[in-house]
Amino acid sequence: MSNERKTQQLGMSFNKASGRLKKMYLLHLLQRLGEDKCYRCGQAIETVDDLSLDHKEPWVGVSVDLFWDLNNIAYSHLACNSRAGSEGKPWSNARRQAQVERARKQYVSGRSGLANQSGIV
Ligand SMILES: [Zn+2]
Repeated sequence: MSNERKTQQLGMSFNKASGRLKKMYLLHLLQRLGEDKCYRCGQAIETVDDLSLDHKEPWVGVSVDLFWDLNNIAYSHLACNSRAGSEGKPWSNARRQAQVERARKQYVSGRSGLANQSGIV
């Protein structure tokens, strides 16, 4: 059976369906093993859409070995994983600091603008 026919029958791309089925089975196994707890928050992962593979040690920009290291893998809620990912990146913190600094400058220049209009310099 061609993938096109499978896709037609499934009503979604065969690759997408296969990925979803693997994730469903993974969650099924985790639940059977009692390992369905989020690495980040400790709460149960209840749906496939919430399940994500998480790297305990960030690998991006560090090491490909950390990506493939099974001992570095945990399970977490997708939201918990995403939150940790955005907080853990140094560039993200730098960008946040830049935003804070920009907002501070706008605030200060806005205030001094008002002060000038009111005649207070
Ligand atoms: Zn969580």
